[in-house]
Amino acid sequence: MNKLHTIGFFILLCSAYAKAQLVQTSQADSLMLKSIYDYSLTESKSYEWLDYLSNNIGGRLSGSIQAQRAVEYTEKEIAKFASRTELQSVMVPKWTRGTPEFAYIQLNDFSTINVNVCALGGSIPTREAGIKAGVVEVTSLEQLAQIGRKEIEGKIVFYNRPMDPTKIQTFEAYGGCVDQRYSGAEEAGKYGAVGVIVRSMNLRLDDYPHTGSMSYGDLDVENYIPAAAISTNDAEKLHTYLSLDKNLQFFLKQDCTVWGDVESYNVIGEIKGTKYPNEVIIVGGHLDSWDLGDGSHDDGAGVVQSMQVLETLKKLDYQPLRTIRVVLFMNEENGLKGAREYAKQAKAKNENHIFALESDAGGFSPRGFSFDATEDQMKVVHSWKKLFKPYLIHYFEKGGSGADVGPLKDSGTVLAGLRPDSQRYFDFHHAANDTFDAVNKRELELGAATMTSLIYLFDQYGVVDNSMD
Ligand SMILES: [Zn+2]
Repeated sequence: MNKLHTIGFFILLCSAYAKAQLVQTSQADSLMLKSIYDYSLTESKSYEWLDYLSNNIGGRLSGSIQAQRAVEYTEKEIAKFASRTELQSVMVPKWTRGTPEFAYIQLNDFSTINVNVCALGGSIPTREAGIKAGVVEVTSLEQLAQIGRKEIEGKIVFYNRPMDPTKIQTFEAYGGCVDQRYSGAEEAGKYGAVGVIVRSMNLRLDDYPHTGSMSYGDLDVENYIPAAAISTNDAEKLHTYLSLDKNLQFFLKQDCTVWGDVESYNVIGEIKGTKYPNEVIIVGGHLDSWDLGDGSHDDGAGVVQSMQVLETLKKLDYQPLRTIRVVLFMNEENGLKGAREYAKQAKAKNENHIFALESDAGGFSPRGFSFDATEDQMKVVHSWKKLFKPYLIHYFEKGGSGADVGPLKDSGTVLAGLRPDSQRYFDFHHAANDTFDAVNKRELELGAATMTSLIYLFDQYGVVDNSMD
């Protein structure tokens, strides 16, 4: 081996050693995780905070008084354990539902059947007297083009493609259907439809209509049409009656309003790092919610779990090496304005975000995390997996992270999302039954402990710098 080779070999050995060091966990880590879980299951505040957000404040639609109250409440609570808090100003859309929607099916003998509907977020109202029209049922946006304007003009388009029950990852089933809700009105408007009714994004058959965001895209304003969701039970009913009487009429009345943008805030709190204060780790969820329920699963749970991460570390007297920050994002549901503003400000201030964790998949039993990371970074994460074994946390996979941390991807931040069991999430998602009683205290706390443990490990070991490769 000549001298050059020897040096080369030595450098290689050093970098291998540096990496090995990164993945070497210790007995102290196991004990720290035990303390984190113990604290979360006995003394944590997350359930109490969720109770207040849900039952005292309620649904927190962007731009509402409730959203503002949630900003003030969470900042006040975070100030009790963070060394610094901040309200980050952001302009958000404001939309209000107005009086309850009303809809019925009218058969050719003039008998009527009332059905459960709700306006989609961002929809325009119907005229005051409501609209009544024949119905064209489709299962995809593409099908509209095949049917053509002649059959669609003057009708209400009914999108009735159900979520795929064979998908174990229910978010995939949601992703496979949500185009009907988001773009359904835009597409139907192009063919002269007068309204759209969308089957609720719910795997279960029940009577709750599920709202959610929709967009008119590039449609000319004069072609905007009202859009509503119908409960899964009533979607089945409408489908059955249409097969018996294809000329039935559908009546819809809703009086929602689209207002101009208003000022709101991301809520931020942090504990400064003792060794690498310029390396920032964030954990967050979204403070806004839909208005039908009180947004306990979506995303009250993620909000209080993220706050709990900092509170737990503080109460355990842990001195973080890096700066750990909780970020409660505003306006995830209908605009993502808070997340974009946060990423914009982080970039402008040249902040180095090494890791961002989001909880926005419900307050159910945690299973693990999905990561948006490189293979080398995943190797490090996998080396931590054994620490989570006693807590039945096993899912550490590459995949999506979350909408609110997404905009940080450009700056090379490792992103992750908490992955709770998702089988019942869409029973509640964006519906009137997403309320405090639907969240289990213990499951919520286990989620917070699991998140705190991962944040602790990233704080201890940092991330693999891929520029070294
Ligand atoms: Zn959410």
